[in-house]
Amino acid sequence: MTLQTESIVELPDGTSYRQPVGLFISGEFTTAQGQLSLDTVNPYTGTIICSVARGRSDDIDAAVSAAQSASKGWKDTPPRQRGQLLQTLAQLMRRDADLLAKIEAVDAGKPVHIAKEADVLAAAACVQYYAGWADKIKGDTLETDPKTLNLTVREPVGVCGLIIPWNFPILMVGWKMAPALASGNTVVLKPAELTPLSALYVGKLVQEAGFPPGVVNIVTGFGAEAGAALVAHPGVNKISFTGSTPVGKGILSASADSSLKRITLELGGKSPSVIFNDADLDEVVEWVNGGIFYNMGQNCCAGSRIYVQEDVYEAFLEKFIRRVEKNVMGDPFHEKTFLGPQISAAQHAKIMGMIENARTQGAVLAKGGESPHGWFIEPTVFRDVRQDMDIMREEVFGPVVAVASFKDASDALAKVHDTCYGLAAAVFTSDLKQGLGMAKSIKAGTIWVNCYNMITHELPFGGCRESGVGKDLGEDVLSEFTNTKSIRIML
Ligand code: NAP
Ligand code: MG
Repeated sequence: MTLQTESIVELPDGTSYRQPVGLFISGEFTTAQGQLSLDTVNPYTGTIICSVARGRSDDIDAAVSAAQSASKGWKDTPPRQRGQLLQTLAQLMRRDADLLAKIEAVDAGKPVHIAKEADVLAAAACVQYYAGWADKIKGDTLETDPKTLNLTVREPVGVCGLIIPWNFPILMVGWKMAPALASGNTVVLKPAELTPLSALYVGKLVQEAGFPPGVVNIVTGFGAEAGAALVAHPGVNKISFTGSTPVGKGILSASADSSLKRITLELGGKSPSVIFNDADLDEVVEWVNGGIFYNMGQNCCAGSRIYVQEDVYEAFLEKFIRRVEKNVMGDPFHEKTFLGPQISAAQHAKIMGMIENARTQGAVLAKGGESPHGWFIEPTVFRDVRQDMDIMREEVFGPVVAVASFKDASDALAKVHDTCYGLAAAVFTSDLKQGLGMAKSIKAGTIWVNCYNMITHELPFGGCRESGVGKDLGEDVLSEFTNTKSIRIML
């Protein structure tokens, strides 16, 4: 078999496009040195879309060396020029938004209309936001004594390894690549093996935008091969990772064992929604339905635990189940579809196993629980779930929610904190004092009051405890991608 660097992909709507399938190194698409490839699959049909290069450690070596060679030139590029290139990239992503949304739909099973707004255009907006930051990253001057002048300067970290998951493929490219580049770093991106296509397409747009070769490098492949090689590489100065908690922990220790890289980890969660007696239940069910079932529950901050105050517990469940029944599940290319399939056979089997286990442990199934066909899973609600049941404790990463009641704010807080995670939480109440009090008390990276999943690139995002270390987004992420240098000048 001769390997190619581009494939013609036929889309379900009868159109076709040219998909880059090689590794993007030093501004060019190339085949993997081992001449290996991996298939990417459409989760709706279970059929192969195309094969992409399977990069391994020799390819990571080549990509890191390209990123190192480009490093000085990019660091010395006037920040406003770096911003202009990012601005151009954002425009190109917008220009191709319809196609990129279809790519996300076939590769990840996302409903195409949701993918356009919430993934592709959100990623473009994020790139544009950091285009604006490029020339606004600054140091300080500090007064200590009359004999010295004291400065801090913010410098790029160097070569950054960006490792991303399959649940928000292009969005994670935007979240990680844009601030890394804006602050003067060069990058080696490792997309998830299940969803490599949109990242490679962005590589083509990076080329078109005119970024210098080597500033952006993309190596598709397996986590255990390409990902591990990137983490272990002594030429990489930082790893920014989004993915599961076990892999994140492994990355932290692998970094300690190699060259002690700077590390940002955005990991898993078991995020709670707390619903007080005085909340507007009609509004609440809209938010919590989206909170858990958006992206088929494959969301790090999915609202997978719901705690409802005793007096409104039954009323909430009745309205919630009625709302859940309205979710349209089906073909990602249909306009009305809200839920597509789960990403893979393995995820499907894992989630179905967790549903079965919850039933065995005595959780009461109030809705769903079945797989109608293929990799689809019905939106599933368990009620009266005890704190000690696995379905209340373990991240499902699928359309399954555990509901239980609470007595008062202190009981709610005890239940909310009975977890190893701390990514996000929501509080629903019409009493703002109550809402703010809870928002201050809950240990998590993001708290939503009377809403859910309201992520925006202006606000930092990232968890505490086993949900991660450091932040993505906002101004905060710029300190993750820069080192502060202190300079003292004797006058
Ligand atoms: P994952 O298995 O941890 O994979 C994430 C990425 O790491 C993939 O690119 C993967 O490659 C790579 N990888 C796997 N093993 C590696 C290793 N030993 N060294 C280096 N890289 C390695 O996670 P996932 O299953 O794709 O994603 C789901 C998880 O991500 C969930 O736990 C979810 O909560 C979390 N997540 C968190 C956030 C957040 O912001 N906190 C956002 C989204 C998702 P392969 O694709 O080849 O496995
Ligand atoms: Mg796929």
